[in-house]
Amino acid sequence: MATVQLKNVKKIYDNKVTAVHSFNLEIADKEFIVLVGPSGCGKSTTLRMVAGLEEISEGELLIDGQVMNDVEPKDRDIAMVFQSYALYPHMTVYENMAFSLKLKKVPKEEIDKKVREAAAILDITQYLERKPKALSGGQRQRVAIGRAIVRNPKVFLMDEPLSNLDAKLRNQMRAEIIKLRQRIDTTFIYVTHDQTEAMTLGDRIVIMKDGYIMQIGTPQEVFDHPANIFVAGFIGTPQMNFFDAKLEKAGDGWQVKVADAVVPLNADMNAKLDASGVKDMNVTLGIRPEHVSFAAEAGPHTVEGKVDVSEMMGSELYLHVTAGGKDVVLRIPTTDLPVEHRGGIPHGTAVNFTFRPELIHLFDPESEKNLL
Ligand code: ADP
Repeated sequence: MATVQLKNVKKIYDNKVTAVHSFNLEIADKEFIVLVGPSGCGKSTTLRMVAGLEEISEGELLIDGQVMNDVEPKDRDIAMVFQSYALYPHMTVYENMAFSLKLKKVPKEEIDKKVREAAAILDITQYLERKPKALSGGQRQRVAIGRAIVRNPKVFLMDEPLSNLDAKLRNQMRAEIIKLRQRIDTTFIYVTHDQTEAMTLGDRIVIMKDGYIMQIGTPQEVFDHPANIFVAGFIGTPQMNFFDAKLEKAGDGWQVKVADAVVPLNADMNAKLDASGVKDMNVTLGIRPEHVSFAAEAGPHTVEGKVDVSEMMGSELYLHVTAGGKDVVLRIPTTDLPVEHRGGIPHGTAVNFTFRPELIHLFDPESEKNLL
């Protein structure tokens, strides 16, 4: 049982770098929160403040309603797993996992029970007598997680735990963490720079940039309704396409002019724009590669381009098209392509594409905020 609250939490390092500005977040009991953003955005600093490894410069941290700012890390009832595993090399797996309980003078039989339970959950029972150097990266990471589980912490903190693993193992361990989460049922705060990890693991994700929170939401919310251009570009692969466009009132509704196409907006979008009080303006139009559709022929709603590169991904084709001097990426299910183009579309082929209005995103180029 543990809720975690960060209230106006700020971190200014000794060298006057403000790594985290006024961070506000309420984490529910048993929630899985992911902090995600590019390197240097302040994710680790935030996590380390929760762990007590960094002092909080301003604001308050509460765990289960108790202010923790001045509580020693060992008394916060949290466990942290690092990217580097940080195992004791001279101890066996068993001893590594038992160590913190030994320090707490937990009876031997109880330690044994807890270590064996955690080892079973993580499928490392057969390695209990080995030293860390005789284990693979993935196995070491399991031991590091096991060492945290035995302490039965109120809050589980993980700082890029999968970054040192190769891609295949990372996918496997990601699935393991989802299972682990179901079995140990505690509150998690997980840091990663990888948006796929964030999307697949988080109940909610916190997207950060330059020490500021850009958006907090469920994976679906941040994907469908990115609050600004940064979030729109950060979440989703390949990245969202952006175009300079013009938003105009046309009769009762609104339309967007982009390249040589006119896209009339739907009723829902019209209502939102009317309610927001915007006037005709320049906008940044965003559209995800999977939401750009092919058009059989040119028309008033289509943009014309020339194929640059086809990347065959198996079930999908990533098509890079040059349109109006810009590289636009289209993600097309292979089954939607004419048979002769399933292996790719030749460089230089002229293509037309369109945007379904309900799938476009409109941003104010000045504030970068989502207009819808
Ligand atoms: P992230 O985990 O998102 O990569 P960090 O929290 O590690 O980001 O760092 C955020 C910012 O704080 C960066 O600009 C980084 O250079 C700076 N920073 C991190 N640790 C220290 C430190 N001990 N002293 C001074 N600046 C630091």
